[in-house]
Amino acid sequence: MKTYIVETWGCQMNHHDSERLAGLLESEGLQEATTAMDADLVLLNTCSVREKPVRKILGRIQTLSRMRSPRPAIGVCGCVAQQEGEALLESAEAVDFVLGPGQVPRIGEALRCLRQGKRGVFIGFENPEDYNYAQIFRKDSTRGMVTIIEGCDEYCTFCIVPYTRGHEFSRPSSEILSEVRVLVSSGLREVELLGQTINAYRCPETGGGLAHLLRKILEISDLDRLRFITSHPRHFGEDLIEVLSDEPRLSRYLHLPFQSGSNRILKRMNRKYTREEYRDLIRRIRDRVPDINLSTDVIVGFPGESEEDFLQTLSLLEDIRFGQVFAFAYSPRPGTPAAKYRPKLPEDVALDRLHRLFTLTDGISRQLNEALVGSRMRVLIDGTSRKSESDWQGRGEDNRVINFPATGREKVGDIVEVEILQASAHSLVGRRPGSSPTLPIRT
Ligand code: SF4
Repeated sequence: MKTYIVETWGCQMNHHDSERLAGLLESEGLQEATTAMDADLVLLNTCSVREKPVRKILGRIQTLSRMRSPRPAIGVCGCVAQQEGEALLESAEAVDFVLGPGQVPRIGEALRCLRQGKRGVFIGFENPEDYNYAQIFRKDSTRGMVTIIEGCDEYCTFCIVPYTRGHEFSRPSSEILSEVRVLVSSGLREVELLGQTINAYRCPETGGGLAHLLRKILEISDLDRLRFITSHPRHFGEDLIEVLSDEPRLSRYLHLPFQSGSNRILKRMNRKYTREEYRDLIRRIRDRVPDINLSTDVIVGFPGESEEDFLQTLSLLEDIRFGQVFAFAYSPRPGTPAAKYRPKLPEDVALDRLHRLFTLTDGISRQLNEALVGSRMRVLIDGTSRKSESDWQGRGEDNRVINFPATGREKVGDIVEVEILQASAHSLVGRRPGSSPTLPIRT
């Protein structure tokens, strides 16, 4: 067995786990293949937060097992692995091993089982002492992800994460700082700190919270940008607002899920805040950081959600005006309390609400982006645009996606000034100041 490929679904935590899996496989002597067709081992790093990805993964296992003969070895990792465990081996013959997100460090053991012709099940939660940040295989040359807190103790009634990733544990700040220093000295410009409830971070050595950690990291003078995801509204203290307002290298972007605008539904979701508290938090953040770009997560069609509850969600969206909204129709996750809640909403009602929500939020995002036309932004270049090889794509300080024509003077990883010329709901188009106004612009 010489080559591997990791296919990833889901959140940034999963993408980062894929980097950890790849790093460990490389240390076992395997090399990354170009496609699944050429790989001896295919790892499917899965997400079970929603139902659709689970179905997609089962379809992908079928495709891989028929793709060529002999088929590649298949390992299912991530939350589906943790959730299904042994049952996955029984239901999908082509699966050689399952390995939950807390068992990433045991991928070498899974490989040895595979070589002996045995099918293995590796599930359970991560031992903080097993975390090895030296063996992470990062392909991105501009930004690096660093996990600072694992697991979640919130137990929102719709969410599978506490059952698949286990209890919260924070990494020592000394270890995080060493990791960031290594990333910065290797040339990365931006670091993104990761955690399911990142603002619940508490250093096990010093007791310092997220605000303290951010300030310590920003003492690394060669680091250009720092951001963090995902915050829980109930842990967002004044110290965090303060650090956002006075640290210019901290991204002007904040992802702050509110999930529902109805207090009745928030209570059923076990979110532990009210719409009034959430709105007040946003007001306090905007008072100190007026140019902050806010994004959020929303669930529509939660069991028992009435039209009135949904209108409360729309009114909160109208009121706050987020730059980006990630909204989904509720789908029950087996084993979570809400899976038993009644009444369930008919699918067409939930989808109609989702459609109405996006009509509103896309309009708001477009207006907010249009207000930026004529301004200048500092853009970190990620690579060529997906639509044209002659355009660059990058992100502004507030995480907005910006495309602009290459002038021949830039390269990936540069931070350059761009004048914004056009806006759509999801991205901006600009040009380097002083470059030809007749260059082709694509939205
Ligand atoms: S805070 Fe709630 S939604 Fe987020 S990971 Fe924890 S349980 Fe899931």
